[in-house]
Amino acid sequence: MTVRLAIPNKGRLHRKALEVLEAAGIDLRGDDDRRLYAESAEGRLRVLFARADDIAGFVSHGAADVGITGWDLVRESGADVEELVDLGFGSCRLVVAVPEDLEGPLEDGARVATSFPNLTRRHFEDRGRDVEIVQVSGAAEAAPHIGVADAIVDLTSSGRTLERNRLVPRETILESSARLVANPEALAGSKARGIEDLAFAVESVIHARGKKYLMADVPEEVLDDVAELLPGIEGPTVVPIQTSDWVAIQVVVDESDVYDKIHALKKLGAKGILVTPIERLVP
Ligand code: AMP
Repeated sequence: MTVRLAIPNKGRLHRKALEVLEAAGIDLRGDDDRRLYAESAEGRLRVLFARADDIAGFVSHGAADVGITGWDLVRESGADVEELVDLGFGSCRLVVAVPEDLEGPLEDGARVATSFPNLTRRHFEDRGRDVEIVQVSGAAEAAPHIGVADAIVDLTSSGRTLERNRLVPRETILESSARLVANPEALAGSKARGIEDLAFAVESVIHARGKKYLMADVPEEVLDDVAELLPGIEGPTVVPIQTSDWVAIQVVVDESDVYDKIHALKKLGAKGILVTPIERLVP
């Protein structure tokens, strides 16, 4: 059964989606960036390249069984899809931003420029606030300058674009990142197994992100201290070293902790410390 996966054909999410799939053992690299389809995993997966904005709709209508796209686009489209994995890249916030010199709250009847009219409408309606939505297809940040709107609702990650346009975020409507989503019927049907296998492979890549594998030789008598220092997933793996009272330990650690852990291990007398990347992690 071939699982059809839709991924962004360009834009911010394109390369990262390819990277995650590649790390999960699905290699789609090619030199033709204009291709529409690719086959992988011995025909078990068919990848469709589409605009990020269209992917949630394609998945909910069944043109694809699964898709990778931004959570903001999924929510804006209102598509009926099931979220399978938070892929952790493409992180951003959908915010209400106002000119930095605006004092006090947005007035009733204020005009808000956005390319997310549905999420914006719901946000203000839920709060009983009355605004006029000015729909734009991009570059909403320019709208207050040209007198088209009093405020905007747009995505921000670093905040630099808002700052450059002298806008300040006032409210967060949604936290977003790229997600693997599925068609609910495909999930309940004969493709369920193939979809679950794909989600599992992708998830194992995400778990491995930011983790390192640490190995070291330590004197057996400090093992309790080492176990306390390195809890790992289920404590460190301990392997005896023949004809000695030393043991080899192996453990998964957060990348951000590696520096401190090495320092502490050295203090406990560890030798032969080795840190390696992890490709996939199945907890
Ligand atoms: P694209 O328009 O194809 O480049 O993709 C836009 C998607 O990238 C958005 O829908 C978000 O999911 C994601 N994204 C992440 N950070 C940002 C950002 N700062 N601005 C716009 N989109 C972002």
